Amino acid sequence: MTGRVEHIVIVGGGSAGWMAAAGLSRYMRNMPVRITVVESDEIGTIGVGEASVPLLAVFNSLVGLHERDFIQATQGTFKLGIEFAGWNRPGESYLHPFSPYGQSLGVCDFHQYWLKARAAGYAAPLEDFNLNAALARDSRFNLRSSDGQSPMSILSYAYHFDAGLYARNLRTLAQSYGVNRVEGRIVEVEQQPETGFITGVKLASGQRVEGDFFVDCSGFRALLIEGALEAGFNDWTGLLPCDSAVAVPSARTEPLLPFTRATAREAGWQWRIPLQHRTGNGYVYSSRHISDDAAAATLMANLDGRPLGDPRIIRFRTGRRSKAWVKNCVAVGLSAGFLEPLESTSIHLIQKGVMKLLTFMPSASWSHALADEFNRQTAFDYEEVRDFLVLHYKANGREGQPFWDALRNNPVSDTLQARIDLFRDSGRVFIDDRELFKLPSWVTVLTKQGIFPRDYDPMAEAVSTAEITGRLEQIRMILNRTAQAQPTHADFIARNCKTF
Ligand code: FAD
Repeated sequence: MTGRVEHIVIVGGGSAGWMAAAGLSRYMRNMPVRITVVESDEIGTIGVGEASVPLLAVFNSLVGLHERDFIQATQGTFKLGIEFAGWNRPGESYLHPFSPYGQSLGVCDFHQYWLKARAAGYAAPLEDFNLNAALARDSRFNLRSSDGQSPMSILSYAYHFDAGLYARNLRTLAQSYGVNRVEGRIVEVEQQPETGFITGVKLASGQRVEGDFFVDCSGFRALLIEGALEAGFNDWTGLLPCDSAVAVPSARTEPLLPFTRATAREAGWQWRIPLQHRTGNGYVYSSRHISDDAAAATLMANLDGRPLGDPRIIRFRTGRRSKAWVKNCVAVGLSAGFLEPLESTSIHLIQKGVMKLLTFMPSASWSHALADEFNRQTAFDYEEVRDFLVLHYKANGREGQPFWDALRNNPVSDTLQARIDLFRDSGRVFIDDRELFKLPSWVTVLTKQGIFPRDYDPMAEAVSTAEITGRLEQIRMILNRTAQAQPTHADFIARNCKTF
């Protein structure tokens, strides 16, 4: 490839395909670049993927999708975090909240002062100093306040939504920015014989769609990046052995919870995602530890609303494409890799892929250096999320259950082991700016799943225990009072963005 990119062909019309189309067309609409999406109604999309992390709001706003319109169009609800039930011990649960803990009391991170108070006998748990946890306790919600003095100004939240409706909405948006849609099943990928660069795709109808840059959003099929370009796959099944899921929607129940629930089960975990019109449910499991029938039976026995269909089995392979960018093709979405939805990160990785693609768009001359750097950054993005997911399994306290015992004793990556050791020794976690999961996320999962530091940061000695506990009590009271003043999640939606 030597000239400027003139025609970008996106293969696939799931969340990845239409997020890529909306993102690229929004930013390239004044450029002499055509964008075409090829999707197959016959093949369809994966049909799961309903929970996000807070940064989706940034993507939606970048592509021109307003929050209220998004919630209305996708039967969406608000998500303050993820409740992990039974991961440390059966009967115990904790919230991984999206907002930070407490408020700085000095030079140390907040949790260091809490650790110091705790060492002196102060009993209040860490979640007592978190706004999202205070709201979640009573299923309350409101938007973030723009008044910097209000405790509600620190709120951070994500969404639950119907992914099919989201893709449809993005499609309308992308088409309004000039994206062309071609419907049909691709039966052949055409490549230049000498270079291997992709030149076009051929459909079952005989139609050919030619292009000079391709975005592979074909899902697990990875039609271009693997089928044609043989990028290779780094398999992480040894670290995250779940390889299947069984999913079923159920009727909405009250209260409308403003969080996702992830309940540990015998050979994996069950998700519960509350939407306005229904609840999404699924059991992610290791097929080496439980049969499909037993997993489906467990799921159906643990729904809190009437099932709205039959359970559906989905297979997956955990890992990432060795190279997400090969020649003139970039993989985004499931074609680039997959990590189980424990922390709702796949759609975020699509968002990151699209934003990176905009940053790395090749210009006049083809650059291997550009592709190499893209691949390095993509590897980092997947590995960072992988380590955080593995932590949930490594630090489990479910002794006596083969799946959980095996994962507790399983070696983890050097990067994760170093982070666990550092926290145990000193209570510190050092986060790279590029990481999605920040300090509060790591401190939550580490401490809630039983990894406690031997000591707290000595710099916390600058504040007396009495002063710390006084401030902690004050923070606790303010957060509780603030939470109680907010409407319930269901009322908030009914008043502001009702669709059901
Ligand atoms: P797909 O949805 O599979 O789309 C592939 C597209 O390619 C389709 O349009 C298809 O028609 C097209 N295509 C394929 N082959 C051809 C062909 N030959 N010709 C023409 N078109 C073709 N993510 C989250 O962020 N949060 C979650 O809570 C979450 N939960 C999940 C639960 C499970 C069990 C699984 C497996 C995934 C989950 N994900 C979640 C991931 C999420 O579903 C995906 O990241 C997201 O849907 C994007 O998928 P995709 O667009 O890459 O692939």
